[in-house]
Amino acid sequence: MTFEELVLDQSIKDGIDSFNYTELTKIQEAVLPVILEGNDVLACSQTGSGKTAAFLIPVMERVLKSDRRGIKALIITPTREICMQIEEQIAGLGYFAGISSLAVYGGNDQDGFSRQKAALSNGADIIVATPGRLISHIGLGYVNLAGLEFLVLDEADEMLDMGFYADIMNIISNLPVQRQNLLFSATMPGSIRKLAAEILVSPRIIDLNFSKPAEEIEQKVYMVYDADKQRLLKTLLKDYPGQKILIFVSTKINVGKISTYLRANGIKTASINSSFTQQERNDTVQQFKSGQVNILVATNLLSRGIDIDDVNLIVNYDIPDKAEDYVHRIGRTARAGKLGLAISFISEYEIMSFNRIEKLLGRSIDKMPLPADFDKAPEYKVITGGGKFRKKGNAKYRNKRKSPSDKSHNKPVHKEPGSAKILTRKKSD
Ligand code: AMP
Repeated sequence: MTFEELVLDQSIKDGIDSFNYTELTKIQEAVLPVILEGNDVLACSQTGSGKTAAFLIPVMERVLKSDRRGIKALIITPTREICMQIEEQIAGLGYFAGISSLAVYGGNDQDGFSRQKAALSNGADIIVATPGRLISHIGLGYVNLAGLEFLVLDEADEMLDMGFYADIMNIISNLPVQRQNLLFSATMPGSIRKLAAEILVSPRIIDLNFSKPAEEIEQKVYMVYDADKQRLLKTLLKDYPGQKILIFVSTKINVGKISTYLRANGIKTASINSSFTQQERNDTVQQFKSGQVNILVATNLLSRGIDIDDVNLIVNYDIPDKAEDYVHRIGRTARAGKLGLAISFISEYEIMSFNRIEKLLGRSIDKMPLPADFDKAPEYKVITGGGKFRKKGNAKYRNKRKSPSDKSHNKPVHKEPGSAKILTRKKSD
């Protein structure tokens, strides 16, 4: 379906045109008309699917047709980055319609707070906010939400994981009872169903195979001892000169360690973690987006929602504990149908975490042999019944390359008994 076929105000269509969107994505086809009809929605869709525009376009259309008095729509998001990104999309998509919007998030200085206060006191068509900061403003008494008609909870599963349940309910207690509610989540655990049951009224449930990564993403895995990971990273990066590469690690400390190691080895690298100031984060993301620097090392902070175009390679330097986070991380590549590659390093301590990921994916991922100068690797196996990790594994992945020009380590092999087994997918709840 094309946007041209939709009944939307011409000014909204002009905004869509300015983004060069012509065809609706799957989630947009499923969700957009249902929101336009005024229904509550519970939508599950994978990251990079175009879900932001799926709710922004119909909400903006409905705001445009409203009385435009005061704040009409509230979008709650887990992080400042997503908040700012959504606000940018509203500014673009709503430009010709004259839709006003404001991003309300923490982490800025007193000036930032005062600016938000002034703008909130005057009202805007759409407010995009992180929960904590919005509650601070509401508590001070100048936010008039009496005319609000639309509530969107974006990345709701992430918000619950971050402990925002009470804050969300607090915000909702300040909203008019009569409103349209839209709940977007990448996963559908029991906690999301419970939240949906509390907030939504006769919702349409739209579940687009949420846990599967996009088909365009090629996934590869290296079994590698923890102590060898840095060296493996340095070796592999040589195979991808000039590519845009996002390296995910689990902790802030590792962000520092890995980026320092790469720089010490002459590899230009930027890094980002949650202790950076907002300005530092913005600058770093901007440098990466614009191609000033091609390699970015980050924590999970960047795994969700952040729209960085044209990432060619995702490296999971550490395996995330939560299987869903793997899907979010690798969703940073192959955006909007482009090709992408995701490489993961599994150490002797992370086998069980990767078991969970393969279970969620419903299949095993090819384990690659290590490059020439690595002679040992831990053994991958499916650990059942809470089995213990083995500190030292067999040298199953002894390198088979004959010469440095032989790139056979890039070809998939499938030798270990554990990964050859196709695991049945368990419902993630
Ligand atoms: P999202 O899932 O909202 O993070 O969107 C992922 C990417 O898809 C963003 O770069 C959007 O600009 C892009 N996008 C959204 N809708 C469309 C569309 N209909 N056609 C092409 N690209 C789109």
